[in-house]
Amino acid sequence: MTGSITKPKCMGTKVNGDPCSSIILGESGYCIAHDPETGGPDRMREMGRKGLEAQKAVRIGFTFAELIPLKTYEDAKERLDVISRAAMSGLLDDKACNAAIRAISEWVKTESEAATKHVVETLAKEIDRVKRQIGAA
Ligand SMILES: [Zn+2]
Repeated sequence: MTGSITKPKCMGTKVNGDPCSSIILGESGYCIAHDPETGGPDRMREMGRKGLEAQKAVRIGFTFAELIPLKTYEDAKERLDVISRAAMSGLLDDKACNAAIRAISEWVKTESEAATKHVVETLAKEIDRVKRQIGAA
């Protein structure tokens, strides 16, 4: 009783020789990959190449939310390492690399100033404490 409705399938053939099973067809009766007008192996290779490039870009790029603020020198070192690898593999252009390196080095500068200030303040407090101890003795 259950008659299967056979939807028309693409008339194309896959690379491995199997008939294409796509049912999303254009007016030509072929899927986008096999359409002699818009598809074909060259076009598919082109699309594949673009897809790979897009993947690469996604892999090396970060979304803003993923770029957590640097908290430690270790974070900064790690990020510099990523940038250097991205630069050497050509995935980031010079302008983007320089901007990122500038930002990281500014962070390191500010952080080390804050760290120095903290050390100096701690030492000053310690000196005060010792002075009071001596004075109280
Ligand atoms: Zn097809």
